[in-house]
Amino acid sequence: MSELIREMLALPEGHDKLLLHSCCAPCSGEVMEAIQASGIDYTIYFYNPNIHPQKEYMLRKEENMRFAEQHGIPFIDADYDTDNWFERAKGMENAPERGERCTMCFDMRFERTALYAWENGFSAITSCLGISRWKDMKQITGCGERAAAPYPGMVFWDYNWRKKGGSARMIEISKREHFYQQEYCGCVYSLRDSNLHRKSQGRGLIKLGVKYYGDEDDE
Ligand code: SF4
Repeated sequence: MSELIREMLALPEGHDKLLLHSCCAPCSGEVMEAIQASGIDYTIYFYNPNIHPQKEYMLRKEENMRFAEQHGIPFIDADYDTDNWFERAKGMENAPERGERCTMCFDMRFERTALYAWENGFSAITSCLGISRWKDMKQITGCGERAAAPYPGMVFWDYNWRKKGGSARMIEISKREHFYQQEYCGCVYSLRDSNLHRKSQGRGLIKLGVKYYGDEDDE
């Protein structure tokens, strides 16, 4: 484990029960261990209808479930309502990553997270999405705060998981656990664009389910 010592975390404004939106095991590994090390009561909420195809969705979900079980953390396996996701993505098929389609995608996932939190006694929500260096923290925080706003007293915890060694520990944990290493963000459009980019570099198309952290050609 990294030499960097984790700081003790505390939920904002005295909140005591957290719902963590998770997208996959690599992004949530460090976040989960950091939250757990701070003694915060939390549950994982897996709601990611953006992930395409279903084979990839199952790979990411089952690995995340396994890791949660290993840590004794409750895992809520929410709907895979892809029809709604595609409906909301209409007209944004060619938007770049970190653009309007991603705002919609975060909004949709966090809206459902906040609703579940409200109905089940969680007063704080957060997401591990921001630990990825490919993501825009400000965009994620904006979506999270918008999702929590309709519910009186609910907060979106905007902690920056990348800081204080978080990014390095994310990689360490992923290698330690030999997590599946996805090679695109998740939706069919990000798969298309990642493959186009690879093609322009003379690389082969993405193969699902073959790359794992810690393997020889890692990184
Ligand atoms: S690129 Fe990622 S965040 Fe953006 S819409 Fe696709 S799956 Fe969602």
